[in-house]
Amino acid sequence: MADYDVILIGGSTAGSYFARRMAEQGLSVLLLEKASRETVSPAYDIFHMGADEMEHFGLPPVQEGDGCFAFTFSENETRSSYGNYPKPSHDRVVGLHKRAYIQRMNDWAVEAGAELLYEAEFLTFLYGGDGKICGVRYRRNGEECERTCRLAVDCSGIPAVGRRSLPDSYGVEKFELTPDDLFFVVLRYVKFHAEKIGWASWIFYKTWFAPAGDGADGILGVGANFGFDYAEKIFGIFSRNVKLPAYDVVRTERGATPYHRTVYSFVGDGFLALGDAASLTKPFNGEGCTATMVLCDIAADVAGSVLKSGAAPTRAALWPINKRYNDGQGKDFAAMLALLTRVVRHSAAANEFFFRHDVVFSQKVLGGFADGMKFTAADVCKTVLFIAVGICSGKVKPGEIGQIFAGALNAGRLLFHYRDYPETPAGFEAWVKKADALWAKAGKMSDWKV
Ligand SMILES: Cc1cc2nc3c(=O)[nH]c(=O)nc-3n(C[C@H](O)[C@H](O)[C@H](O)COP(=O)(O)OP(=O)(O)OC[C@H]3O[C@@H](n4cnc5c(N)ncnc54)[C@H](O)[C@@H]3O)c2cc1C
Repeated sequence: MADYDVILIGGSTAGSYFARRMAEQGLSVLLLEKASRETVSPAYDIFHMGADEMEHFGLPPVQEGDGCFAFTFSENETRSSYGNYPKPSHDRVVGLHKRAYIQRMNDWAVEAGAELLYEAEFLTFLYGGDGKICGVRYRRNGEECERTCRLAVDCSGIPAVGRRSLPDSYGVEKFELTPDDLFFVVLRYVKFHAEKIGWASWIFYKTWFAPAGDGADGILGVGANFGFDYAEKIFGIFSRNVKLPAYDVVRTERGATPYHRTVYSFVGDGFLALGDAASLTKPFNGEGCTATMVLCDIAADVAGSVLKSGAAPTRAALWPINKRYNDGQGKDFAAMLALLTRVVRHSAAANEFFFRHDVVFSQKVLGGFADGMKFTAADVCKTVLFIAVGICSGKVKPGEIGQIFAGALNAGRLLFHYRDYPETPAGFEAWVKKADALWAKAGKMSDWKV
C-alpha cells in the first residue's frame, strides 16, 4: 500500500489543476510546493486566460473585487513592423492577479480532497527493487521526509526537477531548457503622459500592449530568446520603428517561458510530466496555463482509470496519454511551432509589405478565422500574386518567401508525423528518430535574429 495514489511536485497552475482533477475521482493526492503560500507562483503579477477556456476547463470563476480579477478585454489588433495596417481580433480575455489566483486554485484542489504542503521541496524520487518510481523524498522545515506513491507527477515548471532527475533508461527526455529554448519576457507597466494607444501586438518584434489592471495604463511587453539583454535590444528596435506616445514606466517585471517543442513522451513507469516541466506552451504566444490543461484532462482520464482499477500506472498503461494528446493539440502545436519558426524570418520592410497587402499576415489568419472564415482559392491567388509583386519590387527577398514555404512544408511533415504517433511504446524509438530529423530541418526560433 502506497501512502498516496498521486504525489505532485509544484503547486502552480498545472499542479493545482491536475491535483483537483485526480482528487475529484476519489484518489488520494499530495501536492508538494516549494514556496510558501505567500510567495507561491513566479514573480509576475498579471496573466491572461481566454474567457472561453476558463469556462471550458471549469476553473474557479472570478469577479471584480475578489483580489484575483484584474480586467477583461476583447478588442486587440496586430500591427505591422512600422505600426500600420491593424488586423483586429475579438477573443474575450480575462486578466488575473497570478499569485491570488494560484492561491485560489490551491484551495480549489484542497476542497476536492487533495493535501497540500507549502515549503515542501522535492529532492529525489524513491525507486523500488524493480527500478520503478515508488515515492518521493522532500525537505520541509529543515527535515527530510519520504512518502510513497503510485504515480509521481512533475509540475515544477522550467527547472523540471523531477523529469530531469530520472534515470537515462526511463524513456522520458531529460533535456534542460537553455536560453535558446526560452522566451525572456520583460513587462513594462506604463502610464502615458496624454494620448493613449489601444491594445495591440507587433508580431515582428514579439511585442504587445495589453491592460495592466490597477495603477498603470497598460503593459508593454516583449519576449525574445537568448536573454533579457537581447529582449531589451529588440524592444529598442521596436521603440525606434513604432512611434508610441510619450509614457513613463511605473514598474518592470521579468520572467521566462518555454519556447521549445514538448517532450516526446510525458509518461514513464509511475511518472508523468505536465506544464512547463514538459515544455508545453502555446507556440503563438508562449502562454502555458490553459494549454497544459488540455493534456491534464487527458492525463486525468487515463491515469485516473488506471489507478482506480487497481492496476500499476506503468509506462505502457499511461501511454494513451501520449497518443491522445498528440492526436489533437500535440500535432497542431508541433505544426504551428515549425511554421512560425520560419514565417518570421524576414525584414521589417517585408513584414510591412505583407501587412499592407493582407497576405501571409492576413486579417483571416490574425483575426483567428472569425465567423467561420476559410481560406479560398481567391486567397491563394492573391497571395501568389502579391508575393510576385513583392519580389519584383524588391520589398521581399526570394529567400524570405523560401522560408515561408519551408515553414509550411516542415509544418505539414510534422503534423503527419505526430498524427502517426505510436499506439504503444513499441514503435516509439523509430518514431523519435524520424521526429528528431524533422525538428532538425524545422530549426528553432533562436536560429534567427531580428
Ligand atoms: C512574464 C510572463 C507572462 C506570462 N503570461 C502568461 C499568460 O498571460 N497566460 C498564460 O497562460 N501563460 C503565461 N505565461 C506562461 C506561464 O506562466 C507558464 O506557462 C505557467 O506558469 C506554467 O505553469 P506550471 O504550473 O507548469 O509551472 P510554474 O507556474 O512555473 O510552477 C511551478 C511550481 O513548481 C514549484 N517548484 C519548483 N521546484 C520545486 C521543488 N523542487 N519542489 C516543490 N515545488 C517546486 C515552484 O515553486 C512553482 O510554484 C507567462 C510567463 C511569463 C514569464
